[in-house]
Amino acid sequence: MPTLISQLRATLGRQNVLSAPSELAVYDCDAFTIERHRPEAVVLPSSVEQVVEVVKLCRRYGASVIARGAGTSLAGGCLPLGRQGDGSAAQPSTGGVVVMLSRLNRILELDLRNRMAVVEAGVQNLRLTQALAGTGFHFAPDPSSQGASTIGGNVATNAGGPHTLKYGVTVNHVLGLECVLGDASVLKLGPVDDPAALDLVGLLTGSEGTLAIVTKVWVRLTPNPQQYRAMRAIFASVEEAGNAVSQIIAAGIIPAAMELMDQGILAAVEEAYHFGFPPDAGAVLVIEVDGPAADLDRQQEQIVDFCRRFGAREVLQASSAQERELLWKCRKMAVGATGRLSPSYTIQDGVVPRSRLPQIIRRTAEIGRQHEIRIVNVAHAGDGNIHPLLLFDERDRSQVDRAVAAGREILLECIALGGSITAEHGIGVEKIGLMDRLFAPADLEAMRHVRQAFDPAGLLNPGKLIPEGSGIGVQSSAEGAAS
Ligand SMILES: Cc1cc2nc3c(=O)[nH]c(=O)nc-3n(C[C@H](O)[C@H](O)[C@H](O)COP(=O)(O)OP(=O)(O)OC[C@H]3O[C@@H](n4cnc5c(N)ncnc54)[C@H](O)[C@@H]3O)c2cc1C
Repeated sequence: MPTLISQLRATLGRQNVLSAPSELAVYDCDAFTIERHRPEAVVLPSSVEQVVEVVKLCRRYGASVIARGAGTSLAGGCLPLGRQGDGSAAQPSTGGVVVMLSRLNRILELDLRNRMAVVEAGVQNLRLTQALAGTGFHFAPDPSSQGASTIGGNVATNAGGPHTLKYGVTVNHVLGLECVLGDASVLKLGPVDDPAALDLVGLLTGSEGTLAIVTKVWVRLTPNPQQYRAMRAIFASVEEAGNAVSQIIAAGIIPAAMELMDQGILAAVEEAYHFGFPPDAGAVLVIEVDGPAADLDRQQEQIVDFCRRFGAREVLQASSAQERELLWKCRKMAVGATGRLSPSYTIQDGVVPRSRLPQIIRRTAEIGRQHEIRIVNVAHAGDGNIHPLLLFDERDRSQVDRAVAAGREILLECIALGGSITAEHGIGVEKIGLMDRLFAPADLEAMRHVRQAFDPAGLLNPGKLIPEGSGIGVQSSAEGAAS
């Protein structure tokens, strides 16, 4: 490792290779703070050529390579794990080399005539939409982390967001990719669809840095909607709100967003920001439709009608841009407000068929009671995506273990209800131990073959997404931490 570090310094410049313990401490976890492991080194390349050199050197010395954007992964996708001689992920004693993409941060082209932009992987999501202000276009994937997370990270996790209900998740907005493979070759895919080719862009999107390091992205630009209509409906229970959600979608309306908050999180939001929610409100839906003005009033009327029919005691309709912003503010501030409820929390992420939303939220509460962990909920309800926030105190190991065990049980319940263990945050290290509960051995074997084809030496982000074999996975994952 010392030789590798000195060669990395010779290639990238001393200041672009971090190896002092105090510098590495910043990179020992991402937004999933339950597991930590220090990398051996962190490198800050500023061009694809430098990424290639880094991969060549890591390959020569057998060090693993962990791509990192903004480090907002909630699944421990950036946890630096080394690798064993057989290519599998090591138990955490060695870390790998973290490749920070934050200096590949140029917006290279806004090509409005072809509704396309070309960006380097480290560009923050929101920066692209800000750069498009006044053009009539935006970048549709809008993860709540969009002020920090990078487009490369969004591609690697196939990120979603409140408005992806109507507009689709990241994969629907990626036209082409430039990336560096585990053998240090550079692959360029797209941006023009070739119907005769395999969909490698689709394959790489969501691969969590295990198949390639993304360095450049060609993204689709979406025209701004003509108008919006935003509403907020207050219900006595999650059941009522869930039924309204199912009915709205069944009626053929696809809102741009349909977000749910339960009583627990509403109490925190109310205490922090005083939006005026009644203390006994059981659930709130924030719903937005957008599109050509002509159709919006009819859709809004229908939605208000469904909400009232399913028990909404109040439906507020924003009548100005400021009122719309205020309606969204209560949803956007929700996760931050939980800081008032406990010193630490972890955000789970699962998905169920949307008609099962009330069931999973009811089961989540039961699971919380069984494990003596308080749980509050936000959900991208229109997609059936749930984000239970499990509250605990990280200074108390027993609380951490109980939160991990409760999170695992919630995800198993999602599988039992016909859903999946991730809606948008990815598998990372957190959920790798559950992959064999979701997929058959043959499915996992096929994924391993794909991984091997892209990265035969197993250098890229070992211990993430795809269990190494026979369901071994990484024992420092959620399962390991729970035991
Ligand atoms: C407050 C908060 C709200 C969030 N809200 C949402 C949400 O609404 N929707 C959602 O989907 N997610 C959400 N997330 C999760 C997270 O922001 C997303 O997964 C995001 O896409 C990660 O981007 P990043 O740049 O931070 O990537 P990182 O966290 O740095 O990395 C994530 C994964 O991608 C890999 N990776 C990163 N960059 C590259 C690259 N250039 N090439 C190859 N692999 C790479 C990493 O190895 C890792 O496996 C939220 C997180 C937080 C903290």
